[in-house]
Amino acid sequence: MLIVMHHSATDAQIDAVHRAVEAMKLQPVSIPGSQRTAIGVLGNQGYVDDSAILELPGVREVIHVSKPYKLVSRDFHPASTIVDVKGVRFGDGCPPVVIAGPCSIESEAQMLASAQLVKAHGAGMLRGGAFKPRTGPHSFQGLGRDGLKLLRQAGDAVNLPVITEVMRIDQLDDVCRYADVLQIGARNMQNFDLLKEAGRRSHPVLLKRGMSATIEEFLSAAEYLLSEGNSQVILCERGIRTFEKATRNTLDVSIVPLIRNISHLPIIVDPSHATGKRSLVAPMAKAALVVGAHGVMVEVHPDPDKALCDGAQSLDGPAFERLMAEIKGLITYLGY
Ligand code: PEP
Ligand code: MN
Repeated sequence: MLIVMHHSATDAQIDAVHRAVEAMKLQPVSIPGSQRTAIGVLGNQGYVDDSAILELPGVREVIHVSKPYKLVSRDFHPASTIVDVKGVRFGDGCPPVVIAGPCSIESEAQMLASAQLVKAHGAGMLRGGAFKPRTGPHSFQGLGRDGLKLLRQAGDAVNLPVITEVMRIDQLDDVCRYADVLQIGARNMQNFDLLKEAGRRSHPVLLKRGMSATIEEFLSAAEYLLSEGNSQVILCERGIRTFEKATRNTLDVSIVPLIRNISHLPIIVDPSHATGKRSLVAPMAKAALVVGAHGVMVEVHPDPDKALCDGAQSLDGPAFERLMAEIKGLITYLGY
C-alpha cells in the first residue's frame, strides 16, 4: 500500500499518518526522492482496509500495490540505486562495468594470470568461483576456502575488487572475509534462507536470475535481500531455459529495459552462461550494453581449453582484448 499526501501536507499530518499505520501493526516507510510526499506500507499479508487512513488530514489517495515485491520497485523507491564496490559503481549514469575472470579458481598461477589479463584490458572487477554449483557430483567442485584466498590475493595483486559465489549460509563468513561482492547463483535464487542471511550482511550482493524464474520471482527474491536491510543489490540476467538447445540458455535481453523501468536496482548481463558458446559472448555482451545493462560479467581464462569448468564459453586473452576494445567504443557511442 502506498499513501500519497497532498502537496500542502504538513509535517504533523505526515507524522500522524505514520502513527496511524503503526497502530495498524504495519510498518510505514518514507519514500525518498519522490516529487510528492508518499509513505509506503509494509507488513500486510493481504488487502488492508484503508478507510481510517483516507480520513486523515493531508492524505490525497491510497494506492494498493498488489505486486509481491515493493522495496525493489520504483513505486517505493523512485530514485535509481547506485551500488558502489570500492569505488566501482553500478547503476544509472555510471559507465557500464565489466566483471571478468575464470569460471573457477584452479590454482595460484591460473588466478594471477587471469587477474593480470583482465586488469590489463580494463575490467573493473575480478570474478572466480571457489564454491561451484556443478550439475553432477563428479565434476570439479571448486577449491573452497583455499580458493577464496587465491582470489583475494590475485585481486589485491592487480588492485581489483573481487566477486565470488556463496552457496550456503555456513560459507557466508568466509566469503565475506575474502570477497567484496557476494554472488548468489541461478540455482540458489530461491534459497530463501540464504537470501535472508545475505540480506543481513553489509556486502553488496549480485543476484543471478534462476534459470526458470519469471521476472516477478526474480524481483521477489531480491526483495528478500532488501527486506533484511541490504539494498546494495545488483541483478544479473544469465539466460533462461527454453526449448532451444543450440545455446546453453536463451538470453532474455528484454528483461534489461523492463527491469530498469520497474526497479531502481542496477542490472547486468552474463553472456557466458547465457550462451555457453565462446563465439556468442562478445555479440551478446554488446547487445546487453546497447539495451541498457549497467555492466556485463564475462568468463575469461588464460587457457580456456584446459579450464576445469566452462572452458567452451570462456574467452582467452586476445578475444577478451578485442571485446574490451569494442566495448570501449560502444561506451563512447552510448555517451558515457
Ligand atoms: C557462475 O557465475 O559461475 C555460475 C555458476 O553462474 P549461474 O549461477 O548463472 O549458473
Ligand atoms: Mn561458469
